[in-house]
Amino acid sequence: MPQLSTSKKLFSEAEKYIPGGVNSPVRAFKAVGGTPAFINSAKGAYIFDEDGNKYIELINSWGPMVLGHAHTEISEAVKNAVDQSLSYGAPTAKEVDIAKLIVSMMPSVEKVRMVNSGTEATMSAVRLARGYTNRNKFIKFEGCYHGHADSFLIAAGSGAVTMGTPNSPGVTEGTAKDTLLAPYNDLDAVDSLVKSNPEQIAAIIVEPVAGNMGCVLPKPGFLEGLRKVCDENGIVLIFDEVMTGFRLAPGGAQEYFNVMPDLTCMGKIIGGGMPVGAYGGKQEIMDYISPVGPVYQAGTLSGNPIAMAAGYAMLSHLNENKSVYKKLNEVGEKIKTGYESNLEKLGLNYTINHLGSMINMFFTDKEVHNFKDAQNADTDKFKPFFHGHLDRGVYLPPSAFESYFLSTALSDEDIDKVVQTHYDVLKEMHS
Ligand SMILES: *Cc1c(COP(=O)(O)O)cnc(C)c1O
Repeated sequence: MPQLSTSKKLFSEAEKYIPGGVNSPVRAFKAVGGTPAFINSAKGAYIFDEDGNKYIELINSWGPMVLGHAHTEISEAVKNAVDQSLSYGAPTAKEVDIAKLIVSMMPSVEKVRMVNSGTEATMSAVRLARGYTNRNKFIKFEGCYHGHADSFLIAAGSGAVTMGTPNSPGVTEGTAKDTLLAPYNDLDAVDSLVKSNPEQIAAIIVEPVAGNMGCVLPKPGFLEGLRKVCDENGIVLIFDEVMTGFRLAPGGAQEYFNVMPDLTCMGKIIGGGMPVGAYGGKQEIMDYISPVGPVYQAGTLSGNPIAMAAGYAMLSHLNENKSVYKKLNEVGEKIKTGYESNLEKLGLNYTINHLGSMINMFFTDKEVHNFKDAQNADTDKFKPFFHGHLDRGVYLPPSAFESYFLSTALSDEDIDKVVQTHYDVLKEMHS
C-alpha cells in the first residue's frame, strides 16, 4: 500500500487555492475517490510521487509520453533551445522544420498551423470548416471528446437524432443548437442528420479511434462511410487525431485505416510533453486561414521555440525509428493476451477493446461500439479496480471512460507485473 501523506497535505493545500485542487478535472480522482498522487518526477516507464512511491505508467500524460518519460533526445533538444530565449512571437526556422515533417508524416496534410493545445486545434478546425463552407452546423459523435471549447460540450439528448443541449452551464443554447449528435459507429444516424439539415452542415468531426469513452474502435466501413457522405454533400471531414496521431502509425489513424480526412487535428504526442496542438489539411481549405484567407486564428505563443524543439525531436524520433510502432503494437498485444488469459482463468467475461497501444477493459460481457454501450458497463466496479492497481504500483487513468496509453518504455517485466496485477485485483474483487 503506498503511503500518501505528502500528497494528502499537498491536496488539501491545493484545494484552498485551485478549484478542486487541480488544473484539469480528471486529475482530482473524483470518479474513483481517494487522494491523487502528487507527482515529483518520472523516468521511462515509471512515475514517482512526492512520498517516493513508484508506479508503472499506463497514462503517460494522457498520451504524449509515447517513448516513456524524460527521453534523452527530447530533454536534450529542450535544454539546447532554452538558452536562446523562451519566446519571440516571430517566425523561426524550427517552425518550418516541424511543419515540413508533419506534412511528410500525415498523409492528408498539405499545410499545417501550430497552436497550443488540442482544444485550440479542434475549435479552430471547426471555425475554418464553417468559414470555408459558409455553413453553421456540424456533427459530432456521443462520447467523443474534442477539448473544452463551447460547441463541443454538448451531451446527447434523448435518442440519437436530437438537437444538442449543453451539458455544461455557460454553454449557451445558441451555441448548442449548431452541434448535431450521432452515436459512434452509426452511419444511418449520420445520414438522417445530413438529410434533415440540407446544405447546413459544415463538418463532421470524429475521433477515428475513440479514446475518451474507453477505447472504442470504428466498425469496418464507418470511417469510409463518413468520407462518402462528406464527399456527396460538400461537408468537411475532420479527424480529431489528437490521441491517435503519431500513435497508431507515423501518419496516425488516417494512415492506419487509409481513409483521408479534409482536416486533421493534432495534439499530445506532437509536443513531446510540451503544450502543443496543430491543425492541418488540404491546402485549398487551409488557405482560408488568416493572413491568406478571411478566417481569423492567432496565438501569441503559437509555434513557441521550446515547444517546437520538443515536438520536432519527438516527431523526428518517430519518423526515423519505425521500430517504435512494432514495439508499441507488441506491448499492446502482450497486455491484451495477458488480460484475456486472466479473464479465462478467473471465469470472467469482460470486454477488452484494443488497437495498437490503446487498450482498456469494460465491466460488461457485451461488445462496446459506442457511448451507450460504454455507459451500460458496470462502472462502479472500476473504483476498486483502479485503487487495487494503484495500491500495487500500477497507475491507470482514474476514469472508466479512458483508454490506457502505452509507451515503448514498458519492459517485459513491467508488462508481466501489469498483467499479474490485473489478475490479483480481479481475483480480490470477485472473491
Ligand atoms: C486530449 C484530447 C483533446 C483536447 O486536447 P487538449 O490538449 O487537452 O486541449 C481533443 N481531442 C482528443 C481526441 C483528445 O484526446
